[in-house]
Amino acid sequence: MRVLVLGAGFGGLELSTRLSDEFGDELDVVLIDQGEGFVFGFSKLDVMFGRTPPSAVLHPYRDLAKPGLRFVQTIIRSIDPAAKRVTTDAGAFEADIVVVALGADLDPSATPGLVEGGHEFYTVPGAFALREVLAGFDGGQVIVGVTSTPFKCPPAPSETALLMHDYLTERGIRDRSDISLVMPFGVPIPPSPAASEAVLVAFAEREINWCPERLVSGLDPDRNVVMLSGGAEMPYDLFLGVPVHRVPAVVGESGLAVDGWVPVNPQTLETAFSDVYAVGDVTSVGTPKAGVFAEGQASVVAEQIIARLHGRSAPAPYDGHGMCYLEFGRDLVARVDVTFLSGETPVGDFEGPSLALAADKGEFGSSRIQRWFDRTWTGGTHSVI
Ligand SMILES: Cc1cc2nc3c(=O)[nH]c(=O)nc-3n(C[C@H](O)[C@H](O)[C@H](O)COP(=O)(O)OP(=O)(O)OC[C@H]3O[C@@H](n4cnc5c(N)ncnc54)[C@H](O)[C@@H]3O)c2cc1C
Repeated sequence: MRVLVLGAGFGGLELSTRLSDEFGDELDVVLIDQGEGFVFGFSKLDVMFGRTPPSAVLHPYRDLAKPGLRFVQTIIRSIDPAAKRVTTDAGAFEADIVVVALGADLDPSATPGLVEGGHEFYTVPGAFALREVLAGFDGGQVIVGVTSTPFKCPPAPSETALLMHDYLTERGIRDRSDISLVMPFGVPIPPSPAASEAVLVAFAEREINWCPERLVSGLDPDRNVVMLSGGAEMPYDLFLGVPVHRVPAVVGESGLAVDGWVPVNPQTLETAFSDVYAVGDVTSVGTPKAGVFAEGQASVVAEQIIARLHGRSAPAPYDGHGMCYLEFGRDLVARVDVTFLSGETPVGDFEGPSLALAADKGEFGSSRIQRWFDRTWTGGTHSVI
């Protein structure tokens, strides 16, 4: 039995690890990614705000050494889901089961003026480059803004605004700066009223300007203004954007996507093609685009493959549950637990913010790196500064 896992992000790493743990050399798993290594989404914020050096957050795929698992670093050029065959720069691969975990691509150029006059903090190069940009910033109008929906990790723009407050305060330039956050939602964390309330209180305490129910439609760098949906404009000196998200081109061309994303059975993560699954940000499964959900979905697919190969009955369906840590600034972290079930209103519990949860978040990152890469990592806490 051959399993082909496309994409070594949260979903692909979790799935490959689960299969190797269960079957070792008895299963042939090939994991393909174009990248050199894995970077947690939250590490982008740590690097950007100078809390961690870039070298501490890249987990090289060359360190993957699991029985039965072969990692191939190459670009996937085409996917034939009916034939369960992909072509890459390193040749063609065929399998009995294919799992598409290729995430969401980001397109800063889709927002007029963003590349020329602003910055984005969602790609690894964008976030890492901002480290120098922020270090050279001398104060002024700062806008953190979302350009389209859906977007990964919906709390991340709020976290960025809160961490920006700390950063400018520590540098002694907060009093000559304004921070605004442009978001498409009515509240910061729609599934959790308690989390939203706590975030709004934190914004008010720090005089962060909350601009709900709007998107950034473009920037005019000549006039130094950000254009908003609905026609309003805001002056800016520093713009940090969440760029347009879309499926990777190779997925769009494969016939797997419908209305922009890959539809799956919300209980099994099966696509419309036999023995082809999709997990994580690439899907339209109905959960937010976040690593914890990609991981949970990968785990369900792993359980199905394990049950099938052992001749056992089908495992429990995907439960739509995820847990998200939320940086509040001042070294405090909160936690939101949410369950998204199709046809039901999502419900979310909120805890914190606290120092204890900051330690939990560090442990969350360390435990994944231990499990996926078999090595110790303490860079999920900020003690590596
Ligand atoms: C600033 C920020 C903060 C975040 N914070 C959190 C957080 O605190 N908690 C959380 O759960 N989530 C967080 N996220 C979201 C999280 O990073 C993503 O949702 C998660 O990584 C999605 O997992 P995935 O497996 O679906 O895709 P990804 O992890 O994006 O993996 C997809 C992989 O596919 C590869 N790939 C794509 N196309 C090709 C191709 N053609 N050929 C070869 N390889 C290809 C990519 O290189 C990539 O490695 C954050 C995101 C950002 C941007």
